[in-house]
Amino acid sequence: MRGIRVLWFALLVCVMAGLPLSAVAQTPPSAQSAYAPVEHLAGTIGPRVGGTPGNRAAAEYIAAQLRQHGYQVELHAFEFPYYEERRVDLVQLTPQQRSVAARAMFYSANTPPAGVEAEAVFVGLGRPQDLEGRRVRGAIALADPGEIHPAFKVANAAQQGAVGVVTYDDQPGGIVARTLGRRSPIPAVGISQEDGRRLVAAAREGGLRLRLHVDGLFETRSSVNVAATRGGAARPGEIIVVGAHYDTVPGSPGANDNASGVAVVLEVARVLATTPTARTIQYVLFGVEEFGLFGSSAYVNERRRGVVAMINLDMVGWGPRLMIGNSPGRDGAIVVAAMRVAADLGIPVTRLHSSGSDHFSFEQVGIPTIFLHRGTDPYYHRPTDVASNVDPQHLEEAARVTVGLVTHPAFPSAVLHHRLVAMGGRQPCFRRPPMRYCTLE
Ligand SMILES: [Zn+2]
Repeated sequence: MRGIRVLWFALLVCVMAGLPLSAVAQTPPSAQSAYAPVEHLAGTIGPRVGGTPGNRAAAEYIAAQLRQHGYQVELHAFEFPYYEERRVDLVQLTPQQRSVAARAMFYSANTPPAGVEAEAVFVGLGRPQDLEGRRVRGAIALADPGEIHPAFKVANAAQQGAVGVVTYDDQPGGIVARTLGRRSPIPAVGISQEDGRRLVAAAREGGLRLRLHVDGLFETRSSVNVAATRGGAARPGEIIVVGAHYDTVPGSPGANDNASGVAVVLEVARVLATTPTARTIQYVLFGVEEFGLFGSSAYVNERRRGVVAMINLDMVGWGPRLMIGNSPGRDGAIVVAAMRVAADLGIPVTRLHSSGSDHFSFEQVGIPTIFLHRGTDPYYHRPTDVASNVDPQHLEEAARVTVGLVTHPAFPSAVLHHRLVAMGGRQPCFRRPPMRYCTLE
């Protein structure tokens, strides 16, 4: 996830008060019905890494669910660069010899077969200013997590002549899989927070040598976006995309990330199957997000004609409060409109700034988006992201807000009725990696 910067400008005068909610769904979303796909995707199918059998099984299941709700389903195939870690070995050679558990970041360059052996140099956060004056050439750079995306840490270290990068988790307990988005110039691995802190202390004392082996598979593979469409009654040429990714990282059953979002999209499709809406609604379940938003990018490149807004659901099954937002620096008016819809439904929400999911692909081509999310859970990208952590009531809330949005007569043109009033100053923010968010009270 890439959303790091918080731009909290301010709030907002809404002149939308009084706009009627029209076409109300005939059947309201149900927690129980929304939860069933989470159990199937995370419990029965399990990991759904793009380009693997689990990914295909998930696509078939989702297509079957949509057909059961009365939709015609399209499968939009696309190719993407698949990556798989085959072997990673990290060994601390001095001052003591011991092996350190490590995972390759997706698209890490491979080491030569004999590995690389070098002194480890601590480079702080790995920004250009952190690298100044450090003897990184020929060394393995050891970087703190946070502030900038790991891909930039790797690029900055490579530019200074480093032969590898080791970074570590910002939370205890295991190693979270992360993507570099594209093949890196030098090998890059992640280690646990505990090992990271220990190695940083050793590197600061000097004399820390590491040996690193990375062997990863690079291959072009294919996946599908699963799409179902229901034509609008008044403006059929205007399409609202309601989307979620169904893939996972390797080894994680992906209940909250992101069977939860898929389940909400399916629930919204179910309750709106026979309800007329002004605009066309297209439900799109993206086949590959975790490697780097490839499913939504393929959709945006090939099929964005007529799309006037996109609602993205990612990780909506765990966490204290539903969050509504879009990427830092994007138009806040559509978010305010969405928050108003949630408030009218009696659902408390928090303002979010994050570019870390599929809505970002739509924003890149100027399509207004809404991102629904509940924060990062402690099971994120881990084998423990199981269905029992997902609260069915949270799914129902997200489904109710989504139904409220897509059936609102003024959405997304509600943005035209809003004005942003900058009040200046920064509001206090909570920080929970990989993103920050602020609360709208
Ligand atoms: Zn996700």
